[in-house]
Amino acid sequence: MAETSDKWENAVDTTRPSIARAYDVVLRGKDNFEVDRAFVREIVKVIPEIYDVATYNRQMLGRGVRFLIDQGIRQFLDLGSGLPTVENTHQVAQRANPESRVVYVDNDPMVLAHGRALLAADERTAVVTSDLRDPAAILGDKAVEGFLDLDQPVGVMLVGILHHLHDSEDPRGIVEAYMDAVPSGSYLFITHFCASSQESREAEEKYLALLGTGRFRSVAEITAFFDGFELVDPGVVPLPLWRPESAVPGELTVGQRLMFGGIARKA
Ligand code: SAM
Repeated sequence: MAETSDKWENAVDTTRPSIARAYDVVLRGKDNFEVDRAFVREIVKVIPEIYDVATYNRQMLGRGVRFLIDQGIRQFLDLGSGLPTVENTHQVAQRANPESRVVYVDNDPMVLAHGRALLAADERTAVVTSDLRDPAAILGDKAVEGFLDLDQPVGVMLVGILHHLHDSEDPRGIVEAYMDAVPSGSYLFITHFCASSQESREAEEKYLALLGTGRFRSVAEITAFFDGFELVDPGVVPLPLWRPESAVPGELTVGQRLMFGGIARKA
């Protein structure tokens, strides 16, 4: 495993919820603190299904990575990758093709500590602790340069992360910067909280107030991230409807519509 940015390692703040640890709570992990669990209890008051929503997102991540492998993608840049859990990107990808290379990028210091343990024996996976809002720094990082061949197609993954970027941070420009750096035949994979119900608007308020980030975008706004690329079928849809591998109920619940996602190809 490659690793960088040890300066982050002692920076775990247990006085405020963190995005990575709160997500770990809803994935029923153990890498979280009471402050993170208290945040999730507040979200449960408006979205009782929030634990299921995390599962839908992880299932979509798995289906999406398998789809990208089927398209010939052998290298992945997983931006806002989260704490290691089950069925991580490198495990899904390398099971389908052992040659697959994955660079994980996250700015949570716990991700580096746990990533180091999980990936200790994995020569094809790197963890970079850095802020994805600085694409130039990430694309110039020696772990990224050493692991990814930017002359070959890349699967650029922004799964469950863009809703943590405020409009003022130019998330569209950030997406473009990553996609500009990868060649034709690369793919963009996004999942995103959606303003799809009254409950989603209440959840957005709680995210902003308690976590400091949370921008639940409309379907049109999420779709706009893919402008200039070729969306693959079925387009930008609620996660359970994206190329499901088992039967989907006719009418979706609030939780099943809380996140939308899609994948597009760079021509
Ligand atoms: N992509 C994984 C998934 O969908 O299962 C994890 C999603 S988790 C909700 C979002 C992750 O993005 C967290 O681990 C958080 O630490 C990370 N993150 C948030 N803001 C970030 C930033 N500016 N730079 C890098 N990582 C960030």
